[in-house]
Amino acid sequence: MDTQLKTIGRGPAAAGPDDPIKHIKPSVDPSTLHHRQLLDGAFWQRIPAYREVTEAQFLDHQWQAKNTITNPAKLLAAVQDLVPQAFIDDVSEGFHRSPMSIRVSPYLLSLIDWADPYNDPLRRQFVPVASKLLPDHPKLTLDSLHEQADAPVPGLTHRYPDKALFLALDTCPVYCRFCTRSYAVGVDTDEVEKVSLKATEERWERAFRYIAERPELEDIVVSGGDSYQLKARQLTLIGNRLLEMPNIRRIRFATKGPAVMPMKLITDTEWVDALAAVVEKGRKLHKEVVLHTHFNHPNEITAITKRALDIVFERGIIVRNQCVLQRGVNDSIATMQLLVKRLGHCQVHPYYVYVHDLVKGVEDLRTTLQTALDIEKAVRGTTAGFHTPTFVVDAPGGGGKRVAHSFEHYDRATGISVFAAPSVKPGFFLYFDPVDTLAPDIQARWASPTEQEVMVEAAIAQARANMDATASASSVR
Ligand SMILES: *Cc1c(COP(=O)(O)O)cnc(C)c1O
Ligand code: SF4
Repeated sequence: MDTQLKTIGRGPAAAGPDDPIKHIKPSVDPSTLHHRQLLDGAFWQRIPAYREVTEAQFLDHQWQAKNTITNPAKLLAAVQDLVPQAFIDDVSEGFHRSPMSIRVSPYLLSLIDWADPYNDPLRRQFVPVASKLLPDHPKLTLDSLHEQADAPVPGLTHRYPDKALFLALDTCPVYCRFCTRSYAVGVDTDEVEKVSLKATEERWERAFRYIAERPELEDIVVSGGDSYQLKARQLTLIGNRLLEMPNIRRIRFATKGPAVMPMKLITDTEWVDALAAVVEKGRKLHKEVVLHTHFNHPNEITAITKRALDIVFERGIIVRNQCVLQRGVNDSIATMQLLVKRLGHCQVHPYYVYVHDLVKGVEDLRTTLQTALDIEKAVRGTTAGFHTPTFVVDAPGGGGKRVAHSFEHYDRATGISVFAAPSVKPGFFLYFDPVDTLAPDIQARWASPTEQEVMVEAAIAQARANMDATASASSVR
């Protein structure tokens, strides 16, 4: 105490308001503030089909929906001579082999660099090309997250104790190649016949009844498909039905919309008003209603996005982002840092970064778990803690989301990581790094079903040994 007082007493005289500021930190390179520079102007007019499209047209969500690209012929008609025929052929074959239907908004199409379509991060997410596809991991199944197995009524997944996932409908404003719900979302493709989750009030009513009968449920994720596709009237109905239940405390409407068609938030005032009314009603009932969205790359955030999100912010609606880590899209430190900062600039909270689910037809987009660990380390510390996403693995088999760092064992050679989820489900949950990233001798082992089992059993045995060792040293019970 005494010494502290003396130190303060001997300190320099307090500086006056006009004295020069002493900068201890070196000044920043302006390029580190790049997240504030958003693409502006009539960027869509670079696309031949949109050369004459005015700003008023481009901002009209109905024009966006009507001009959405759903097949290679429409893509060619839009981009015309910007790409060689060989690329279009590659896309046609890619469409044919994809488990997902194709849907690309004019907004997204305009943000793709068609001079370099193979490397463009947005093209990679939405437009499949056959020449880059890799064989699926041998351990992959179509509904790898067991959403259907954990569904008491169709379209309602109740896995965690106090929260449930309500799949209100099966369409989206765009279709992502990498969709985890390719078992249901979109129309049937050459590869997959979908489970039907139509937006019928009859099906919803069964889901509402289940939710009302489970007092432990407090938190509902309304997803799909995509909440953007709900009519204003439907959004109001779902929001009000859930808010009326005494057990429900939190609702999240999940939509990729702001990332792929932000103009809807500017021009579809009926939809925004409906959402704002549910949020407002929730606030009066002391219940939280928020929007969860899905930006994956900083290029998806333009001056239009900022305008759209400013409207949402002014209406007092909280927005959080769930991102998927993807090879060649956002699997670099610089890209992820830029995305996180740019989301923060638009008042969107980066909530999760998912290690890519084991999904059919997207092996070229998956990364290793190690990539997630490395990027997480570099992102943490760059901005506010509440803007720092948690990197998670949604463990195949229904273990739910686990923090990427929390594996019980990770064999980097075989690419097998083992997770436990004691509050969700007993047993072990395994994630598998993409085979093509592993050493050639290990790739050869993955080609043999017997060797696969040997590797999996060894990883589980090691996880069990690690857990036994920590349990005996731990005082937590
Ligand atoms: C992701 C998910 C939730 C919500 O989980 P949070 O970690 O709270 O975001 C709920 N139910 C299911 C089935 C999910 O996959
Ligand atoms: S928006 Fe979401 S649900 Fe729809 S296709 Fe993309 S990932 Fe799937």
